[in-house]
Amino acid sequence: MQKRTLITLVLLCLLPLIPCFAQEMPEWDYPLDPEILENRSGYITLVNRDHLLPSNYVPNDLVVITVRCVSSIKGDMLRKTAHEALSAMFDAAAQEGYTLYAKSVYRAYSTQSYMYNNRLEKVGRDDGVVAYPGSSDHQTGLGCDILNYEWTRKSGMTAAFGETAEAKWMAEHCAEYGFIIRYEADKEEITKIIYEPWHLRYVGKEAAQYMKEHHLSLEEFDEEWHAYISAWEARGGNFDELLRVRAIPDPVMTLYTTDEGEEEISLFY
Ligand SMILES: [Zn+2]
Repeated sequence: MQKRTLITLVLLCLLPLIPCFAQEMPEWDYPLDPEILENRSGYITLVNRDHLLPSNYVPNDLVVITVRCVSSIKGDMLRKTAHEALSAMFDAAAQEGYTLYAKSVYRAYSTQSYMYNNRLEKVGRDDGVVAYPGSSDHQTGLGCDILNYEWTRKSGMTAAFGETAEAKWMAEHCAEYGFIIRYEADKEEITKIIYEPWHLRYVGKEAAQYMKEHHLSLEEFDEEWHAYISAWEARGGNFDELLRVRAIPDPVMTLYTTDEGEEEISLFY
C-alpha cells in the first residue's frame, strides 16, 4: 500500500472515530481490558538467568511496605501497585482466617550480589539456591516471599510450605490480585528454579489470570507474546510506521511516552 493511501485511509478512519486496521494484525486471544493499556509499568517483564536486569536498575515507584512482615524487613519496599495488590490480598486472606507475612520484598542488585557471593563461598559452587545477581525476581520490586507464621520461625524454606493452608490459599487466589506463583513445581525445567510456593510475582490481574488459566510460567507467557509480535512483523507489521501515523490499530498495543521522553509502542504497559 502506498504511504499516501495509508495516511488517507487512517485519516478517513480517524474522523468518524472508528478504529482503523491499517495494518494486518495477527490473532491472539489474550483478554484485554482498557485499564491494562494505561499501565505502562513493565509488570510482565521477564527476569531470569537469561534475562538479567542491569546492575543499576532500581524501580522508580518503590514504597515502604505496610503489610504484616517479619521484623528484619521493616522499612523494605515494593513497587507501589504491587504493594497495593499485596495489601488487598493480605486483607482477603485475613477475612478467611489466614494470616500472611512478608519475608522478603524488593532486593537491590548489591544485596543480591552480596548474598550470591556469600553462598558461593559457603558451598563452593552455584547450587541455585541464591539467584545470580541481576537474575532475581526481587530486583524488579514486584517479587515477594510470603509465609505463614509457622514458617517465619524456620531458618530455611522447602517445598513443604506448599502443603500449608496459607500456601494453598495463595495458589488458589493470588491471581485475583495480580500475582502468580513465579516458580511452580512442574515448571522447574523451564524456570530453572526449584518450586517456591512462597515466591509471588506481581504481573497485573489480567496477565496473572491469563497465565493461571493457561497454566503458563512467565517464561512461557513471555515467549507467547514475543511470538505474537514476530508473527505480526512477518506479516508486514511495522512499529515505525505505526508511530509515524500515530494510529495504533490493535487494542493489544498502546502508544506511550517513556520516562526519557521517547515514544514507544508496547504491550501491557
Ligand atoms: Zn523470593
